[in-house]
Amino acid sequence: MKALIPSLLLALVSITAVFAKGGPPINEACPVDGKKGRLIYRTFGDEGTIIFCSVECMEAYKKNPSAYKVVAK
Ligand SMILES: [Zn+2]
Repeated sequence: MKALIPSLLLALVSITAVFAKGGPPINEACPVDGKKGRLIYRTFGDEGTIIFCSVECMEAYKKNPSAYKVVAK
């Protein structure tokens, strides 16, 4: 039972780190096709967190980030 507490704490720290990384998204519209971005599809660029409307758009952007213009809100 004692061993459970450190691993729970570690899990909590990991979750916090994931949310802290990148911060809130800088854009609202998907940079690939202009549809509304969703927080579950995101990547962390130099400018901050960038969100996309779908996993396809996210992958397309990651392959060639300079081909798409991110419009900050
Ligand atoms: Zn898209």
